Amino acid sequence: MKNQSGNTHWVDLHTHSTASDGSLTPPRLIASAKNAGLVGLALTDHDTGNGLLEAAAAAAEAGLRFVPGIEISAEFPHPGTMHLLGYFIDPISPALKRMSQILLEGRNSRNPRIIARLNELGCHITMDQVQAIARRGVTDDRPVVIGRPHIAQALAESGCVASVKQAFDVYLGTTGQAYFDKERLTRKQAIDCIHDAGGLAVLAHPVQLRLGNPAELENVVSNLVEIGLDGIEAWHSDHRPQDSEMILSLARKYKLVPTGGSDFHGNSKPDIALGLGRQNIRVPEAVLDELETAWRNRRNRQRAAAAGQPEAVHDGK
Ligand code: AMP
Ligand code: ZN
Ligand code: FE
Ligand code: FE
Repeated sequence: MKNQSGNTHWVDLHTHSTASDGSLTPPRLIASAKNAGLVGLALTDHDTGNGLLEAAAAAAEAGLRFVPGIEISAEFPHPGTMHLLGYFIDPISPALKRMSQILLEGRNSRNPRIIARLNELGCHITMDQVQAIARRGVTDDRPVVIGRPHIAQALAESGCVASVKQAFDVYLGTTGQAYFDKERLTRKQAIDCIHDAGGLAVLAHPVQLRLGNPAELENVVSNLVEIGLDGIEAWHSDHRPQDSEMILSLARKYKLVPTGGSDFHGNSKPDIALGLGRQNIRVPEAVLDELETAWRNRRNRQRAAAAGQPEAVHDGK
């Protein structure tokens, strides 16, 4: 959509808040989106929907289109990582609560192992320090999801490494000395969980799968489509223009909704601005329009199926 002077409106469909490893609280994130001139935003915290209601209320007040979202991990061979974005999930659905609980248990068993290994390696940080970092800016006792960026920050602040980047390169990245995988959902479980929570399932930043070539990516994508994938993230801070082009052509071929966002985290990724990813990635509002249409279509098909009109579910994706 364009405004009256013919300029494109922009959105950001991949962002994190203090509910996970972003540094802005949900209301501050919305205020920043408004300041940045965006017309729409999706909040996609890791493994939790805890920031969604607050962000939705702030967005309504600011006159910003808001998409309640989540980002979860699924099993994928080392050293790649597979993240799935859930869009238009219902923030109060029991399915979201269940999914979140499973994912948080996986984190709770992994984070202490990482810290114990770091201590063995001579980096003396504690879980309390990491927790305090994760709670910066959070003024009440709501739960926050603790992730590797918080541990990276603790390492940098303790002087064990020179920067967050070095913390990932040496210790926390998938090939780092203190890396432990967390228990993950299978791909089918992850997609089903997102659907059960009322959302659309989108493959995030496909380059992070670290596949050798486009044919391998196509293979993975076509398998995901068979188990219900709805969309694929074409524009992302880790994507070069040629990556986005290649992913867009896959989206067209498999009738997937192409999505995009900066993966804004605030302080822990200072080179990424809200609505303006690395490589100056920006996402036009029409992408949000298409995503919303796909979600409404899916929801209508589900409702028709639930009301006993099975023919309505066979009309394509
Ligand atoms: P976790 O959810 O705890 O596995 O941590 C995932 C977060 O770590 C995401 O925000 C990633 O973008 C971030 N991350 C993963 N690898 C790196 C890296 N090499 N440098 C900086 N951030 C990273
Ligand atoms: Zn993150
Ligand atoms: Fe991700
Ligand atoms: Fe992300």
